[in-house]
Amino acid sequence: DPDADLTPLEFSVTKNLAAKTPAERDEILASPAFGTKFTDHMIDICWSVRGGWHRPRVQPYGPLSLDPAAAVLHYGQEIFEGIKAYRHADGSIHTFRPRQNALRLQRSARRLALPELPVEYFIESLKALIAVDGSWVPSGEDQSLYFRPFMFAKEAFLGVRPANKVGYYVIASPVGAYFTGGAKPVSIWLSEDYARAGKGGTGAAKTGGNYASSLLPQAEAYEQGCDQVVFLDPDRNVEELGGMNIVFVYKDGSIVTPQSDSILEGITRDSILQLAADRGHKVSGRAVSIDEWRQGVASGDIVEVFACGTAAVVAPIGVLKGRDFFDEQPLGPLALSLREELTDIQYGRREDRHNWLVRL
Ligand code: PMP
Repeated sequence: DPDADLTPLEFSVTKNLAAKTPAERDEILASPAFGTKFTDHMIDICWSVRGGWHRPRVQPYGPLSLDPAAAVLHYGQEIFEGIKAYRHADGSIHTFRPRQNALRLQRSARRLALPELPVEYFIESLKALIAVDGSWVPSGEDQSLYFRPFMFAKEAFLGVRPANKVGYYVIASPVGAYFTGGAKPVSIWLSEDYARAGKGGTGAAKTGGNYASSLLPQAEAYEQGCDQVVFLDPDRNVEELGGMNIVFVYKDGSIVTPQSDSILEGITRDSILQLAADRGHKVSGRAVSIDEWRQGVASGDIVEVFACGTAAVVAPIGVLKGRDFFDEQPLGPLALSLREELTDIQYGRREDRHNWLVRL
């Protein structure tokens, strides 16, 4: 265990003297739009080649000061995570499978030549933020506090090599349902002119560049009247949406999700597939071509298609639109029933039989 002799972090805490009043906070919590409002504090931990992880701080939320030569601004050496905190009926605050996010952040770090934050430090950083900003975890239906941990190269130099100075931060934003309109089916545009990832590229890492390159195809999706975009690999296999994985349900009850080393391994997907397997569904990861998808829907072999991710949880796909086709998608009960089971666990309404929750 590489973390065996880790010293726990001792955060210095600087309170935000301009923190929101309880009344201001409650007004924000009453109708939180996704990712627009932030809590009063943030986490800031430094890393350097010489000093390793050091100077863990809880700071007032506010602008970062960066040297204009900071490597991230030029070469995009950056990674991030997305994970939520849920308030239970007894007031306690829990997060969901944080080790998985910590391990994924480490995998992203390896790919982007950034330092690997120890799993325990990741979890301690969430706890330290909740210790000061716990009152920002909303208690309304489908509401949560969304954490955005991120790490980037802050060394000032112009030269292409891994930075010797890095910062790790966590900010948090109270959120409600991701798609306005709740879990209503989303429409998907098939991107054929643009790819999200290439073989040997960064598709499996959660790094800003992947999202930057998805913005133009996402704009194309909007122009086509669609909510989201789905990407193919060079062999015309389905990969994923801009920010969600995709899952196919077959007539015989089997469930298939695209698997390749250029897809981001979603924790929602993994959890949903585990719940489905517990119910006796056969679950597998394999390549699914766009032809298999379209023909499966046409023949009735595919009975449901849905997207999943932390932000939106589960979103049934109602339409797949391409340059020269418009395929309505079959809707069924499984997506929403798995969504309900998962959110029941997250909000403490159902037994957490896999021990996925961690109290913050
Ligand atoms: N794919 C991409 C590209 C994503 O950005 C996300 C969101 N993190 C996901 C899939 C879903 O991952 P998760 O279920 O862990 O949120």
